[in-house]
Formats: sequence, C-alpha cells, structure tokens
Amino acid sequence: LQCFNGTSRVRSFSFVPDFAFAHSPLDRLSAIRNNEDKLKKLRESKAVSCVRISGDQLLFDGDTPDFSPPKPHENIILLGRDPAQKNWFATATQATDSLKSIRQIMIDGALPKEVLSIIAQARSLVHWHETHGFCARCGTASVMSDAGYRRHCPACHADHFPRTDPVVIMAVTRHDKVLLGRQASWPHGMFSVLAGFLEPGETIEQAVRREVKEESGIEIGRVEYFASQPWPFPASLMIGVIAEALNDHIEIDATEIEQARWVGADELRLMLDNKHPDGLTASRRDAIAWHLSVAALQRLSVET
Ligand SMILES: [Zn+2]
Repeated sequence: LQCFNGTSRVRSFSFVPDFAFAHSPLDRLSAIRNNEDKLKKLRESKAVSCVRISGDQLLFDGDTPDFSPPKPHENIILLGRDPAQKNWFATATQATDSLKSIRQIMIDGALPKEVLSIIAQARSLVHWHETHGFCARCGTASVMSDAGYRRHCPACHADHFPRTDPVVIMAVTRHDKVLLGRQASWPHGMFSVLAGFLEPGETIEQAVRREVKEESGIEIGRVEYFASQPWPFPASLMIGVIAEALNDHIEIDATEIEQARWVGADELRLMLDNKHPDGLTASRRDAIAWHLSVAALQRLSVET
C-alpha cells in the first residue's frame, strides 16, 4: 500500500482496499455544469441512466435498479460520464413499494462496486437538495443550479454548496495490540475501531487525538493516513488513519461507547474471520473499519 512505502516498520503489504462506495468510475464533467446546451445534449443522448433516490433507498424495477432515462418533468442532478460513455444523472423519487435500502444493496453485494459508488454520490446529493431548500442566510426558497452542485438564493444572491461531513476513523495500536470499542446499539459481540466527526478548526490529527482521548482515555502520538471512504448515510467521508497510543489504561466515556478493550493479533484475526470462540466479531468488510483492522493486524504481525 502506497502510504506505507518508505517506512521501515512494514516490510511487505499486499492489501488492496475494496470497501464499498469508493470506486466511482465517473468523470464528473464539472466543466459543463453551467452549460445548458451541453447538459440538454447529455440528457437527450442515447446512453443515459438516472439513479432515483428516496431517503436512503434506491428505486427498483422488479429485481434490478430502475436506471431508466430521466423523464422530462424530473429535476435532475448530473453525476457524470462512465468509461462506456454512458451519462449518469440522479433525481429524488416518491416513496413507493419498489424501493430498496442502499445499506441492504451493499450487504447483498449483487451490484458492481462501481455502480454502488455512483448510487452513493446520488444519495448524498439528493439528500442535500431535499434538506437545503431554503437559503440559510435569509430563508427564501433557493434554486438548484450548476446541474445540482449549487443552490442559489434569488433574494439575497447567496450561493450554497453541497456538504460532505468528514469523520475520522482510527485503528489505535499499542505494542502488539489494537484498541477496539463497541456501541450499545451495535449487534451483540461486535467491536470496531473508534470514530468521530471532525469539528470546525481541527486538523485530522487533532480530531483523532481528541476523539480517542474522549472515548477511551488513551493518549495518541503519531497519526498516519491510511485511506478514505465515502459513506452516504447521508454524506460522510470516513478518513481512515492508524494511530499510535502512548498509554494503555482505558477509561471509557459511557455516553459514547459501551466498552473498549485491547485486542491482540491472534484474537483480532479470529474476530475478522468470524471464528472467535466467544462470538466476538469485527465490522463488515464493506466498511473501511474492517480494512483498518487488517492493516493494524499486518503491522502487529510484522512488528512482533
Ligand atoms: Zn438568501
């Protein structure tokens, strides 16, 4: 993995991230978002797909997603063009019986990872428009512009842009162990790496140190970037890092997590493989959390 090259600590690393939502093949065509003629041509071109979203669900037609071309009345967002020269749009749809949860689609794994990533882009953008219909400055109804990447206020002329909410997610290591925690709402026996939202004015490193300290009482030294994952529930970006703990003693914040513990390489391997004797598990493979755990495990295996 690229980000570990050049460090003497890890000698070999063959892991390729294959988590969900991170494989968009689209050229986002940002240069033509303001060009009405070109947008019209795209919309009327032969190869057009439209992703229809309601909340965190996708519209289906029978067993397959309804990606039929946009109807004239549909207010569409430009997603981009795929390598096969198909143009992709998104729109909001009404709640019907033909919807399927995007989480469930991810779990089922029946759609190509590239298509799942396009659906993530669609879901986050549609959600933003649905929840930002009025100008945050003056309260007037705003108008979608730039093919969906801006909302303009006709009264005070303020422009508003789609948001992405950054989250830090960290595999905390200490000698030969990794720190895992669990929230009370999670499935019984499931543990994962810690995570939390970045706050305004924070660096990634500061957010990692603050979140880990708040949730577990552990102090963090070195922080290394690992990889990132769009997480469209509704519009997060998970920023994965590996963080080195400076102390062992755990003091959890019970309002944030139910339990935290140090897990050694052998036990973590059993959890990742769903073979733990007490039924303890790690997060699903679709999530960057699983891959962070694997990366931490590889690091422990090399160092011990
Ligand atoms: Zn306004």
